[in-house]
Amino acid sequence: MHTPGATAATATHCPYCALQCGMNLRPEPGGAGVAVEERADFPVNRGALCGKGRTAPAVLSSRVRLTEPLVRTHAGRLEPATWEEALDTVAAGLARTARAHGPDAVGVFGGGGLTNEKAYALGKFARVALRTSQIDYNGRFCMSSAAAAHQKAFGLDRGLPFPLEDIPRTGCVILVGSNLAETMPPALRYLTELKANGGTLIVIDPRRTRTAEQADLHLAPRPGTDLALALGLLHLLVADGRTDEEFIAARTTGWEAARAAAMAHWPELVERITGVPVPALREAVGLFCAPDSAMVLTARGPEQQSKGTDTVGAWINLCLATGRAGRPLSGYGCLTGQGNGQGGREHGQKADQLPGYRKLTDPAARAHVAGVWGVDPDSLPGPGRSAYELLDALGTDVKSLLLMGSNPVVSAPRAAHIEDRIRSLDFLAVADVVLSETAALADVVLPVTQWAEETGTTTNLEGRVLLRRRALTPPPGVRSDLEVLHGLAARLGVEKGFPTDPEEVFDELRRASAGGPADYSGISYDRIQAEQGVFWPCPEGSPGTERLFLDRFATEDGRARFVPVTHRDAAEVPDADYPLLLTTGRVVAQYQSGAQTRRVDELNEAAPGPFVELHPRLAARLGAVDGSPLAVTSRRGRAVAPARITDAIRADTVFMPFHWPGEGRANTLTNPALDPTSRMPEFKVCAVRVEPA
Ligand code: SF4
Repeated sequence: MHTPGATAATATHCPYCALQCGMNLRPEPGGAGVAVEERADFPVNRGALCGKGRTAPAVLSSRVRLTEPLVRTHAGRLEPATWEEALDTVAAGLARTARAHGPDAVGVFGGGGLTNEKAYALGKFARVALRTSQIDYNGRFCMSSAAAAHQKAFGLDRGLPFPLEDIPRTGCVILVGSNLAETMPPALRYLTELKANGGTLIVIDPRRTRTAEQADLHLAPRPGTDLALALGLLHLLVADGRTDEEFIAARTTGWEAARAAAMAHWPELVERITGVPVPALREAVGLFCAPDSAMVLTARGPEQQSKGTDTVGAWINLCLATGRAGRPLSGYGCLTGQGNGQGGREHGQKADQLPGYRKLTDPAARAHVAGVWGVDPDSLPGPGRSAYELLDALGTDVKSLLLMGSNPVVSAPRAAHIEDRIRSLDFLAVADVVLSETAALADVVLPVTQWAEETGTTTNLEGRVLLRRRALTPPPGVRSDLEVLHGLAARLGVEKGFPTDPEEVFDELRRASAGGPADYSGISYDRIQAEQGVFWPCPEGSPGTERLFLDRFATEDGRARFVPVTHRDAAEVPDADYPLLLTTGRVVAQYQSGAQTRRVDELNEAAPGPFVELHPRLAARLGAVDGSPLAVTSRRGRAVAPARITDAIRADTVFMPFHWPGEGRANTLTNPALDPTSRMPEFKVCAVRVEPA
C-alpha cells in the first residue's frame, strides 16, 4: 500500500455520516496534525464537505482526547493504567462473569461508525472468544426498519440499490423523513440537479426543514402517520387507474392483498389521520405518476417508528404498483445515516447475522463461516437480543459489557433508564477516543485510534465499499480497536484468528462473505483505490454491482413481494396528560450523540446546545418567547431546553435535537416501543407535555 510521504496528501474519507465524502489530508508543517483539502475526483461529493467533515481533524488533536488507558480504582476513580493492566482487567472482568453466570451474561455492543474490519472482528470476537450470543450495535437504531422492509420485498438489503448519480436523472423523488440539507449537506446537490433537469421533488416531513424548502410540494403529516399517508397515495393512484399492471404481473407477487389493504384507506380517512388535505394527496400522486421514472427515498422519519418496517413497506408498495422498482432511474432506497451504517450491518455485529449478511440461523451459513474461522459450527451461539433489549437487560441477565464505538447514555431511547441499567453492571469496558458520557461510567476505558490514524474500509449509503487510509501516526498510548480485540482474545485463550493488520482482516472478511448476499470476495484494497470504490455484491471476478434488481429481484422466484400493510397508531398518542407530540432529529453542526463533534469549538459555536422547536400558536398558549426555558415531559422523564419559535413546525408537535446529555437530553423522553420485525425503537414520536420551566 502507498505510504504517505512527509508532505504528500492522503486520499481518504470523512469519519462521520454515510455519505462518506472523499477528502485529502495533508500533513501540517512540523508534524502538527493534518489539514483537510478538497478531493474533487471522488464522485459522491466532488470536493464538497460540510462543517463536520471540514473540522474533523480537530478531534484528532483535541485536548480531551484519551491517550492512556483508565482503570477504576477501589476508591471509585478512573486512574491512568498501562495497557497490560487495562487489558488484563477487561479480560478478567468478562471471564469472571462468564464463569459465574454463563457466556450469555457477557454482552458486546458495537457501532455503525466502526469500519467493516472492526465490525467483522467484533462479531467474531463475541462468538468465538466470548461465545456469547449477546451482541448487537447502535445501527439497530439507524436503518433496521428499512433493512427489514428491503429483505421482505426484494430479498436483499442495500440502502440504495442504485448510485446517487441516478437521482438527478429520474423524473420525481419523494423524500420521506429526511433532512439532507442538515444531515448530509453535500448530497443536497443531487436534488437541486434533479430540479434543474426538470424533475420534481416532494418532501414529506412534519417540519418545513431546509430540505423541505427546496420541494415542489411539501406534505407535513402528523408524526407517526407516514404509513397512512403512503396507503392514501396508493389508494388514489389505484382509483385513478395509474398502476402498472404489466409490471405487477411480470415482476411481483402479492398485489391483491396489498391493493385491498390500500383500498381500505380512502383519502378522507387518510386526511383525518395525517392532517394532510386530500387535494395535496392528489397533487402528490400526479407529480409521482407523471414522469416515466420516479424514486422514493426514506430516512429515519418513517423508519424510527414502532411500525417502521410496515411504513417502509407501504412506500415500497407504491413503487412496485407503479413499476418504479427494478428499472433504470427508478426505485426505492434508504438514506443510511451512520458512517458505516451499511457495512456495519453486513459483517456480523448484528444480533442475528453472520458476515456477508448471512443469517445466523441458516445451517449452511454457520458451516461456511465456521469453516473460515476454524471452529465447530455447533460452537457458534444463536441469535441474541436486539440493541434496546440488550441494553435493557444490563445488570440483570447481562452482567458485563464490552462497548465499542457507541454512546448509549445519550443516544439510546429512554436514556435515563438505560443509564441506570449501565450503572448497574458488574463490569463495563469501553473503547473510545474521548471520555464519552458512557465511557465515564466504565470500569476500564481503552483509548483507541481515530479514522485518520488507521486504515480500513467502510460501505457508504450506495453500497460502495471505500477505503479510509492512514494519514498520520497515532499518539503514543493509543491502540487500534483491532489491537484491543487481539489482546483480549489472547487473554481469553484464543491466540490465533484476531490479526491486527486491517488488510489481513479484510482478506478474511472477503472469504467469510463469499457466496453470501453481501459478497465482498472480489473486492481488494487496491481495487477500491483504483476504482473510487467498488459496489457489492462483488463475487470474485465481478466488476461489482452498481444497480440492483434490473433483471430480477433477489427473492427465490426473482419477483418482488408486495407486503399488505395497514395503518395503526403510534405506541403513544396525545391525551389529556400528554397533549402534544415530540419528534427528535439532528442539526447540521453536530453528529449523533455528539461525542466527537461536541469537542470541536467551531461546531459548538454553531450549535451550542439543545432547544425545543415549537409553533408560535403553541408558544403563545404557553407564554413562551424565543430562548425561554421549556420543560418537556413524557412518561419516561423530563428535559429542559430553551424555546425556538418557528412556524416551520406543526402546532401539535415539538421538535428536539438529540445530540446532548444532561437536562436537555432529548432521549430521556423518547419511547422504546419496538417494531415487531426490526426491533427499532420509536424515536420519532411520543406524547409529551410542555410547560415553562
Ligand atoms: Fe462528512 Fe457526512 Fe459532512 Fe460529508 S456530509 S463531510 S460525510 S459529515
